[in-house]
Amino acid sequence: MARRTRAVPTLPFRHFLTYAEMEAFLDKLVAARPTLATLHSLGPSREGRQVLCLTLTDPATGPADDKPAYLIHGNIHAAELSGTHAALYTARQLLADTPRKTKLLQRVAFHIVPRLNPDGAEFVATTSGSVRSRTDRSDLAPNTLVQSDLDGDGLILQMRQQRPDGDWAVDPRDRRLLVRRRPDSKPPFYKVYPEGRIHQWDGSDHLAIEGRSIDWNRQWSYDWRPEPEQGGAGDFPYSEPEMHHLATFLHAHGNLFGILGYHTGPAAMLRPPSAGSDDDIDEADLRKMNDLARVGARLTRLPVVPVVRYCRKDSRGANLRGHFPSTGYQHLGLFVFEFELGTIMDSAGMDFDQQMGMLTEQQREAGARRLLRWWDKRGRKPLIYVPWKPFDHPQLGPVDIGGRVLREWAGMAMADLRTRCAATYKFTLHHAAQHPRVTLEEVEAKAVARGIYRIRARVANRGALPTHISNRGARLRRLRPVRVEFHPGKGIDVLSHQAHHSLGHLAGPSGGRLLEWFVRGKKGASCRIALHGGTGGDTDHTLALPPSPPRAGG
Ligand SMILES: [Zn+2]
Repeated sequence: MARRTRAVPTLPFRHFLTYAEMEAFLDKLVAARPTLATLHSLGPSREGRQVLCLTLTDPATGPADDKPAYLIHGNIHAAELSGTHAALYTARQLLADTPRKTKLLQRVAFHIVPRLNPDGAEFVATTSGSVRSRTDRSDLAPNTLVQSDLDGDGLILQMRQQRPDGDWAVDPRDRRLLVRRRPDSKPPFYKVYPEGRIHQWDGSDHLAIEGRSIDWNRQWSYDWRPEPEQGGAGDFPYSEPEMHHLATFLHAHGNLFGILGYHTGPAAMLRPPSAGSDDDIDEADLRKMNDLARVGARLTRLPVVPVVRYCRKDSRGANLRGHFPSTGYQHLGLFVFEFELGTIMDSAGMDFDQQMGMLTEQQREAGARRLLRWWDKRGRKPLIYVPWKPFDHPQLGPVDIGGRVLREWAGMAMADLRTRCAATYKFTLHHAAQHPRVTLEEVEAKAVARGIYRIRARVANRGALPTHISNRGARLRRLRPVRVEFHPGKGIDVLSHQAHHSLGHLAGPSGGRLLEWFVRGKKGASCRIALHGGTGGDTDHTLALPPSPPRAGG
């Protein structure tokens, strides 16, 4: 019988996706491979969208929760829409490459959360407005600038207002750009705001800008600190509902052995620690993490940067509290990474070292001019800049609206993003292929006397990673140790004093433990060996007792 297989849809790299477009693509993936892909929600967002999770695995080899699992999350930061693309690209490739290129889906379950922050992302995708994680409109203080598209061009851009005390001036070398005012700058001078209206304005200059107060990547549990020690921390770890949904999922899945997060800063592969130093990481763990990171660097051609060094070159260090990479290692016991996929500056040829090395205003201005020159040369696509147009603001009076299209500055140009997603996907294949794999081998039942049997089975971890993943993981209660249960069927008595065995964690890939049971029973009676392998996956074996040898001399 000919099997009809629908083609797995290709992910278009044309523009950043709205929530509806992302959901439609996920639905198409599921429709193309309904046996391998299932879509579910981790829970609703604050505004009522679903935090969608696509689970990929081959059910013929067992359900997702019985296998080692790998999780990818993207777009925790509202403007970092490229993360959604990278996560969707991975999902698409895993389905399109299976089973011809990889057997991974038979052994691993992938959980892909392409848009952890559907509300913030929707705001940026549909307006280009500027928020870190979410808008704060439930509790607006007076004098807060609320972003909106005043002139109806479909974009939230910037407003510049001419003022003698303005701190910005026109760049004499590229009149499209504004530069910081200097003593020798020539008027006119400007104040610059995001496009929008001021809530309950008292006429003063003391304006707050909405959407800057909470950063969900400061909401994770490890080393969480409140404001002011950590800007953006929120009320308590996982106080944002979307973060709470994800944390609940992570801690309910003791089978997770690796996690990857997607962001879009200057392109780099980030590893723990997020604060402190490498001394906070077990030495052997650090070596293994670096081995993985080296492969990532080779496959993606990106620099590997500990989060503490992901900052301007003249900074003492990033020291992010309540941050994902340190939480992934310290609280989940896993080797986790983040990819910063790159900004529009990366597309224009400015790499991590150059972007983080722009220390003075002059260097940053030169970077912006270089970006616009690159943009002019490639036919001004994508739309990263809109010329200033006069507008009569209902509160501020005459202003100009225009400037940077922040949504497009946040990520790489689409053609470059596709190449980068293909590279980071290769790393995911490598990382995921290291999964622990707990097996039951050499299962046999042998009659040793009439009606008496010896049952043996070898339990081993044939994967590259141990079932505790890291030395840190071995000391955490979260990663389930390996357990073997022996369930005798009807008519079987267990003679051994112990039926169930707790084996602790298993290193890989050689070795293992040989287990033995003695039972009394009749030919054909069956018993079941159930293996709970934690991160290595679960498996089950039922065996029937063979015929007994005839009585000696009978
Ligand atoms: Zn980010």
